[in-house]
Amino acid sequence: MHIISSKSPLQYDNVLPATTDVVIIGAGIIGITTAWFLAKQGIKVLVCDKGRVGGEQSSRNWGWIRQQGRDEAELPIMMESMTLWEDLAKELGVDIGFRREGSLYLCESEAELARHDHFLSFSKQYGLESNRLNRKEIQNQINSSQGRWHNAIHTPSDARAEPSLAVPAIAQACSKQGVTIKEGCAVRQISTANGKVDGVYTELGLVKCSTVLCCGGGWSSALLYQNGLNFPQLSVKASVARTEKSPLIFNGNAAGSGLAFRRRMDGGYTIAMTDYLEVLPTADSFRHLSAFLPLLRLAHKKLKLRMGNDWKERFLTPRQWAKDDITVFEKNRVMNPIPTPHSLRRMKKILSNRLPELSDIAITQSWSGMIDTTPDAVPVMDSSETVKGLFIATGFSGHGFGIGPAAGKIMAELIQGNGSKHDLSRFRFSRFSDGSLLKLGPSL
Ligand SMILES: Cc1cc2nc3c(=O)[nH]c(=O)nc-3n(C[C@H](O)[C@H](O)[C@H](O)COP(=O)(O)OP(=O)(O)OC[C@H]3O[C@@H](n4cnc5c(N)ncnc54)[C@H](O)[C@@H]3O)c2cc1C
Repeated sequence: MHIISSKSPLQYDNVLPATTDVVIIGAGIIGITTAWFLAKQGIKVLVCDKGRVGGEQSSRNWGWIRQQGRDEAELPIMMESMTLWEDLAKELGVDIGFRREGSLYLCESEAELARHDHFLSFSKQYGLESNRLNRKEIQNQINSSQGRWHNAIHTPSDARAEPSLAVPAIAQACSKQGVTIKEGCAVRQISTANGKVDGVYTELGLVKCSTVLCCGGGWSSALLYQNGLNFPQLSVKASVARTEKSPLIFNGNAAGSGLAFRRRMDGGYTIAMTDYLEVLPTADSFRHLSAFLPLLRLAHKKLKLRMGNDWKERFLTPRQWAKDDITVFEKNRVMNPIPTPHSLRRMKKILSNRLPELSDIAITQSWSGMIDTTPDAVPVMDSSETVKGLFIATGFSGHGFGIGPAAGKIMAELIQGNGSKHDLSRFRFSRFSDGSLLKLGPSL
């Protein structure tokens, strides 16, 4: 698998237009799918990425496309996303590894199973089939002698795709539809006049436009701050690995007892730890700490505090800059954190312990990504109330890959002024500042 980094050759080095209809900041799953739906309506779109298409979270994730375990407000959107993934997989004409083989949450006790009751209490009313499985039914799904799991939640219609293939393939289709994509092009500031967007200042110059979508993943907070918008955001490091081609013991997505695994298109498994996320604090982590306390309390067992060698750089990064300054975006073209040897040893140990059938299987590659989260672990999909023409879709909190195409469609509809058939009130930007009591989503 090719890990996209700042050393990857530029695939999109188009001439920067002087003017366009919409500028999309960030070529992850959200930016690229929004561009796809806008281009289909004949709208002129420029997508700028400081690094590479899909280089950050969108190519580094587990590849789960799951309806299971979603926040209730996300579920209908996610169910639409499933249909859109299915359409995309056909329309793209390349195999992105989209397969509908289901998801399993594996439980060792009734108490663990009970934690999923809330999801089961509403999933049926949306027409989603999610069931409890007993030990025997789990063994029909997972061919492992271990049998440690007593119960599970199963959603047979869930899917997966290969993240390192999906966004690059959709970007290529966008480019054929007339979208201009510019890699290696950081947007330093969103330019406004009389409270309205009138362009973006990129490292390569000004582009005039009346509409901007900010979908910069873990960088959105830093960018929005330049326009006076305070967006609490925290990024946590998650490490992932893949195995060599392995015996088929299970064909879908599964997580339980600290291990997540899913079958890959190449016959291996993508594996990760569900109980191990590293927090590398920045000055913003402290600024936003109080907003994050409930989430940190909920997830504290899996969060490991690390200072890292680059702590000075993280703490001393300026918060505000001028349009001609070289910014944090150019200094971090593609975030490419490396898993620590300790986290890899731990992952291998958990794999052998939970799935002894795979204990002799080699881990052939590993990588990490920075998950961007909001205080309530659900995203923002909204327009700004204070900067007219600015739209925001970010903070997908560890589950934005699956919902990406529907989020892209929603943002394309909002940008065109058409509204959305979905209730987006849970995803409004103002919830962080209007005194609302934040309701925690199902965590990271
Ligand atoms: C290890 C890991 C596992 C995950 N597993 C899953 C999973 O199984 N299923 C699931 O649904 N989700 C999963 N996620 C979450 C999912 O990957 C993200 O929610 C989703 O990819 C977010 O997409 P995005 O487009 O918002 O952000 P990103 O993919 O992070 O893209 C943002 C882009 O914006 C660019 N950018 C930022 N600022 C600027 C700027 N100023 N100028 C120009 N460009 C800029 C960046 O370079 C980047 O390419 C996982 C995430 C990680 C890290």
